[in-house]
Amino acid sequence: MDVQTELEIVLNKLQIRYGRGKELHVEWKPCTKKKSESLGKTMELRGEVNKENRMIYIYDRDYEEAVHTLVHEFFEYVFDLHLISPYVTLYNQMQKAMEQSFMENEYYNKEAIIEIFTELEIKKMKENKEVKKNEKPTKN
Ligand SMILES: [Zn+2]
Repeated sequence: MDVQTELEIVLNKLQIRYGRGKELHVEWKPCTKKKSESLGKTMELRGEVNKENRMIYIYDRDYEEAVHTLVHEFFEYVFDLHLISPYVTLYNQMQKAMEQSFMENEYYNKEAIIEIFTELEIKKMKENKEVKKNEKPTKN
């Protein structure tokens, strides 16, 4: 099975398990890594969600990295939509305060919190053998 199909299966499992983000689709675009600016640092963009067309784009070439990025982007989408939006003012105030207090400490940003959920999910998927060990990309 190719990576695109594997990613679709993982997304489907997440949608069923959490009952959210059912409107999302995933597209593997391994040749289009982009840069992003975050907190004044340039980072490699591994994936992103386009909220207009409900697409998750994954830029990682490596199968396991692509799965990781998909789980991360799924959680980020669900958090933004269902948890953060209703509390956006509070969240912004909190984030501002945290950024001022913990500028140097990456643990205290949203990305780091999402990563904790992502790692737990990947661990669970590996235990359930829902994701495979690494394989060579079959597209591009
Ligand atoms: Zn993120």
